[in-house]
Amino acid sequence: MAPAPAPDPRPLPHVRRAVVTGGAGFVGSHLCDRLRAAGTEVVCVDNLLTGSLDNLADRADDPGFTFRRHDVCEPFDVEGPVDLVVHLASPASPHDYARHPVETLRAGAHGTQHALELARRKGARFLLTSTSEVYGDPLVHPQPETYWGNVNPIGPRSQYDEAKRYAEALTTAYRTARGTDTVIVRLFNTYGPRMRPTDGRAVPAFITQALAGRPLTVAGDGGQTRSLCHVDDTVAGILAAAATGHPGPINLGNPAELTILELAHRIRDLCDSASPVEFVGRPGDDPARRRPDITLARTALGWQPAVDTDRGLAQTIDWFARRPVGARA
Ligand code: NAD
Ligand code: UDP
Repeated sequence: MAPAPAPDPRPLPHVRRAVVTGGAGFVGSHLCDRLRAAGTEVVCVDNLLTGSLDNLADRADDPGFTFRRHDVCEPFDVEGPVDLVVHLASPASPHDYARHPVETLRAGAHGTQHALELARRKGARFLLTSTSEVYGDPLVHPQPETYWGNVNPIGPRSQYDEAKRYAEALTTAYRTARGTDTVIVRLFNTYGPRMRPTDGRAVPAFITQALAGRPLTVAGDGGQTRSLCHVDDTVAGILAAAATGHPGPINLGNPAELTILELAHRIRDLCDSASPVEFVGRPGDDPARRRPDITLARTALGWQPAVDTDRGLAQTIDWFARRPVGARA
């Protein structure tokens, strides 16, 4: 892909106040920072199931930012006007949703409904962060939004995949039957600073292993592919989708596809590490390949990723390397 200048998230003059569920998590905390930088007042609603107040340390003395510890599976209200509700609250890594299967289904179902209800009551635009997992183990490659997916409804990833598919259906129902202004974005694998070292995902796992000189645990033969999008690009795409009237679904991801073994080698090289690769068992229903078709995002939002993967990985490695050793593994 041709390098492009970083798409600066457009200003959101009409978004004076936003509610971000899951704002203490990896993607959500970057979104809160970006909204605040654009001058939007932010109310973050998070129960800290997989997130952390450490991610919001920069917001500690920010008068335009409010943190509310609350489980979105229980009804909630926010006083005052709200222009935008971004619903991210959900466990998101395979490790997390395997530990919290019922909570994951509830976040997709009840959590999405309560966030939608808030948007409906306030007359706010609602943005659902769905996932490439709605495509399951895809039979169409790369994946356009028109592909309906190949999902196992009872497999090890089903709690997450089906929760998000239900959340998409519910969002669509609120749009058609309740008149709520909604948009669905489907995020593909996102990486960057503030990923949890123990969330089980490939990027933080390989980085912490390479920095410690431990073996890089590559699942299967490492031939499965993913397409990695830097969190700054993902957040820019979310804000671009919030700023339009498009209903989605819109893929947000970086089409730069690489095998997991290539990823392990790249991270090892960037860390200047001598860690060996250790091939370990591949989890059940692990998708064989994933790459977004982002034609719609390009045309409808004028968005495309700008962060080169090596540059983004080097910045992420630098962030992990600066953390105290005990906090890295
Ligand atoms: P994360 O785990 O870092 O953040 C999720 C946040 O939601 C956490 O702060 C957690 O405490 C909070 N949360 C979970 N259940 C909640 C509940 N019931 N009530 C209130 N808060 C709750 O994950 P992330 O990677 O930042 O993902 C954020 C969103 O983006 C998720 O909806 C995820 O499905 C979606 N997404 C992420 C990726 C990715 O690669 N990171 C890819 C596709 C989709
Ligand atoms: N993976 C791996 N080693 C690890 C963690 C993950 O080889 O220590 C593999 C995993 O099996 C999958 C890919 O890397 O094939 C991406 O996994 P991740 O959990 O990051 O994202 P997802 O599977 O949700 O796309």
